[in-house]
Amino acid sequence: MESNLDEAYLARCLKRLKELGAPLEDWRCINVIDMCEGDEPDDPPSFATCELCDCSRLRYVHVMKHPLYFAEIEVGCICAGIMEGDIIAAEERERLMKNRAKRRKNFVEGKWKKASPRKALHLYTRMHKGRKLWISVYPGNRYYVRCGEKSISRYKGHPINNFYSAVYAAFDLADPVEEIL
Ligand SMILES: [Zn+2]
Repeated sequence: MESNLDEAYLARCLKRLKELGAPLEDWRCINVIDMCEGDEPDDPPSFATCELCDCSRLRYVHVMKHPLYFAEIEVGCICAGIMEGDIIAAEERERLMKNRAKRRKNFVEGKWKKASPRKALHLYTRMHKGRKLWISVYPGNRYYVRCGEKSISRYKGHPINNFYSAVYAAFDLADPVEEIL
């Protein structure tokens, strides 16, 4: 544990875990959510609240899981570091998420190449992180996104019916958060 970590802050986090009846250590981060990752290009930014320290300006939510606790706990970077006993690892994860957010912004603004479709109405393709991506558009505004072996037609629980959602879905396929964890 880092020595410059505020003792009072640490004590408060541990107290909250005790109140919840939750384990105090050995948590694992299973996901990081970027609250500013809007579904539309001009969605306003939103922020989350840390379940341990109540900080209400979280952009990156670290989702923590423990095999002996029934629920996941969503916290900010430093609280995540306390829970997993490794502040540096949590800070590194946050840094990688910031880089990913920059890549996502560039990706959304980047260009697709038109390819000649066989069955689809339109076919677009491009590379990201050395991976080839395709977006095919079928009649009735049906979009399919493919990256390598993976192919999807839904994004965040909804059928993909516009190009922007297809682009975001393509980014998640080519640049998954799991690679940061
Ligand atoms: Zn916190």
